[in-house]
Amino acid sequence: MKGICILGATGSIGVSTLDVVGRHPTLYKVVALTANTNIDTLFEQCLAHRPQVVVVVNEAKAAAFKSQLVGTAIADMEVLAGAEALSQVATMPEVDSVMAAIVGAAGLLPTLAAAQAGKTVLLANKEALVMSGDIFMQAVAQSGALLLPIDSEHNAIFQCMPAGYQTGSRAVTARRILLTASGGPFRQMPLDQLPSVTPAQAVAHPNWDMGKKISVDSATMMNKGLEMIEACLLFNMQPEQIQVVIHPQSVIHSMVDYVDGTVLAQMGNPDMRIPIAHALASPDRFDSGAEPLNIFSVRYMDFEEPNFERFPCLRLAYRAIGAGGIMPTTLNAANEIAVEAFLNELIRFTDIPIVIERCMDAVAATPADSLELILQADQHARALAHEIISGLTQ
Ligand code: NAD
Ligand code: MG
Repeated sequence: MKGICILGATGSIGVSTLDVVGRHPTLYKVVALTANTNIDTLFEQCLAHRPQVVVVVNEAKAAAFKSQLVGTAIADMEVLAGAEALSQVATMPEVDSVMAAIVGAAGLLPTLAAAQAGKTVLLANKEALVMSGDIFMQAVAQSGALLLPIDSEHNAIFQCMPAGYQTGSRAVTARRILLTASGGPFRQMPLDQLPSVTPAQAVAHPNWDMGKKISVDSATMMNKGLEMIEACLLFNMQPEQIQVVIHPQSVIHSMVDYVDGTVLAQMGNPDMRIPIAHALASPDRFDSGAEPLNIFSVRYMDFEEPNFERFPCLRLAYRAIGAGGIMPTTLNAANEIAVEAFLNELIRFTDIPIVIERCMDAVAATPADSLELILQADQHARALAHEIISGLTQ
């Protein structure tokens, strides 16, 4: 029986993880759950899964949550408040596996703490890896943590790697990764209409049901840019070895091209419970609850090259990893602020890459060889992005 901690339990990935874990009560015990503000969902999850401890990051919500517990079946459960408690629960001795499913940079410290503590890290929070890069991969290598990708593409690539492959190492017979992308909701929209798309249109993804931030990232294709950087780090490959492929049906979740000409692909319905179950059962397999793929309903599969004019964020991601140092951290931080401003209707959809590019132009790619430097670069880029946004909105 393994103990699991779910960072970001109340989000889209957190909910899917509890669904899978709930199907295998003899294999997994829920030790810790965390939420930022959504205490209603957290309360239901606690009743169903009986964790030992929960973290509510928002202090006022944590106090409200504690009073909600009085007189219920879970009145004795430990409730911690504040961001520091995230790292505390992620490194508890009772925890074997940590699902890193907080969105954005807020997930970095607890995910890194889990890696340093040698836990099995199930990584959905790609922003944490993109912003910390080599520091994160070094922590994994030093502690002997097992790092398993949850992002559907990276999980697919991992499944297509040679037997016994471990993340961070180089599969020398794999010459290229074909990283698939749906192209999001605006793949075919006339370019002159993009400036006026609304947040509601941007979060309505054609194939996947996800949190708001990653849905906007999918619409700009920054999600694929972050995933390209994620793939370079997880699979120890160069950016030129990662080819982004637009595949609107989302049946193939990515491919590995080998030196002998073999191309291996992983297929399945677009349901995040599949990669989650794969990582939870690894190296075995078990039921995920996902519908089996009806191959006859897949009438055809299309593959297109990405268009950098339509999707400038993808170009910016290649530029960031090419420059190295703190540039990926800057890209990620500027993107988080720009997406938030777009969701709050402060800037237009097409302003998102403008904000990020101006931030990158204003920063030198100095080394990112300590956590302090990374956190500094993150804060600096956020402040810059806010300034650029105020300039745009005046
Ligand atoms: P979501 O918005 O649905 O959920 C986010 C979770 O993070 C919530 O539990 C929330 O409480 C928590 N959170 C938010 N801000 C926080 C903060 N400041 N401090 C602590 N906790 C905070 O997001 P999601 O769609 O589940 O995505 C989570 C992560 O997984 C993202 O990094 C995303 O890129 C990645 N991912 C998601 C999907 C998907 O299908 N949803 C697929 C691949 C990768
Ligand atoms: Mg993905």
